Amino acid sequence: MEKKSNVLMQKYELGRLLGQGTFSKVYLGKNLKSGQCVAIKVISKEKIMKVGMVNQIKREIAVMKLVCHPNIVQLYEVMASKTKIYFAMEYAKDRKGRLKEDVARKYFQQLISAIDFCHSRGVYHRDLKPENLLLDENGNLKVTDFGLSALKDSCKNDGLLHTTCGTPAYIAPEIISNKGYDGAKADIWSCGVVLFVLMAGYLPFQDKNLMEMYRKISKGNFKCPQWFPLEVRKLISRILDPNLNSRISLAKIMENAWFKKGFKSVENIESPRIAADVAVSPESPDIETAFGPQYSTEQGSPVQDDESNSGSMKPNCMNAFDIISLSQAFNLSNMFETESGQKAAEARFTTTKTPAAIVSKLEEIAEVERFKVVKKDGW
Ligand code: ADP
Ligand code: MG
Repeated sequence: MEKKSNVLMQKYELGRLLGQGTFSKVYLGKNLKSGQCVAIKVISKEKIMKVGMVNQIKREIAVMKLVCHPNIVQLYEVMASKTKIYFAMEYAKDRKGRLKEDVARKYFQQLISAIDFCHSRGVYHRDLKPENLLLDENGNLKVTDFGLSALKDSCKNDGLLHTTCGTPAYIAPEIISNKGYDGAKADIWSCGVVLFVLMAGYLPFQDKNLMEMYRKISKGNFKCPQWFPLEVRKLISRILDPNLNSRISLAKIMENAWFKKGFKSVENIESPRIAADVAVSPESPDIETAFGPQYSTEQGSPVQDDESNSGSMKPNCMNAFDIISLSQAFNLSNMFETESGQKAAEARFTTTKTPAAIVSKLEEIAEVERFKVVKKDGW
C-alpha cells in the first residue's frame, strides 16, 4: 500500500521534524523527483490569520525571493492547502556550542556578507540570533527566518523603523528605547551579539530580570571572557556600541584586520541562484484567503519567476513597486476555480480588509438579518 499521508503535493516526501517556530513547524523533506533534501516549513493559516500575521508571511516570502545569496537559505517554492502554507526551502542544520576562533571568524564573515547583501537590497533581518543561523553540508552559514524582516519601504517619514522586534538578548539599545531605529545599525548590533556568543558560548547581556538585562544593553555593559583575543574584544566593543553615531558600519567591519583574515568575498552571486523556481502551487482553491485578494494573478509584472526571463531579473534595481509585484508574480489563476459540480450561487468581491474582518462583518450582518451562519473550511 502506498503511504499517501507523508507526501506533500505529490512532490515532497515529509520526514522528521527539524524545528519549531512560534507559528510554524519545519520538517525534513525530499523532492521525490530529484531526491534533493529540503526543509518544509508548515504554517497554519488559521493561526496566522488569528493573530493578523498574513502580511508578515507575505513579506517573508517576498524577502526570501529577493535575497539570493550563498549564505542565505533559499526559498524554492511556496505551496498551500486549505489550511496550511508550505515553504520548500534549502535544507541546513542547527549548530550548537562555543567555537574556535577561526571557525567563529568564518561564520561571522559569512554572516556579515549575507547581511551586507540584505542591506544593499533594502532588507533588514531584525531577528539575527544563532537559532536563525544554520549550516549546510559544507559547513557554510545560512541565514534563515525572515519572518520579522523589514523592507526599507516600511520606514516612516523619518527613515526609521518603528516596530519593536527581535529577541530580547539580541536587540539593540535603540529598539528598547523605542524611539525608532535604523534597521541596518540594529542588525549590526545583533551581529555583534552573535559574534560574542559564537566565541564565548554564552550571551554578553544576561540577567534573570528582563529590566536589568535591558539596562545592561542600553549601557553596552558587557564583559568579554579573558580568552578572547584583543582584536576580537576591540571589534566587539566597536559593534556593541550603544551610541548609534559611533557604532561601526558593515563597511568598516569588513576593513577590520581580524575580520579580513582568510575572508573570501562572494563574487558573482546573482547569476546561479536567481533562476530559483519559486512558485505557488495552485492546489488550493482558497489560498486567496491566506494571501489576500490583492494577490490575484496579474500578468506582465516586472518581476516574473519563470525561467524564461529570470536572467533579466535584477534585484538591485528594484523599487517598491517591483517588490510588491513580486508577490503578484505568483500564478494563482487556477485557484479561483472551484471543483466542478459543487458550484453554488456565489458573489465575489475584492477588498483590502482582512479575511477575519470580513467574516466578522458578515456574522454581524447575519445576526441583524436573523440568518444562520454556517462556516466551512476552518472558518
Ligand atoms: P519561525 O519563523 O516560526 O521562527 P523558523 O524559520 O525560525 O520559524 O524555523 C523554526 C526552526 O526550524 C529553526 O529554528 C530551525 O531549527 C528549523 N529550520 C528552519 N529552517 C530550516 C532549514 N532551512 N533547514 C533546516 N532546519 C530549519
Ligand atoms: Mg525562528
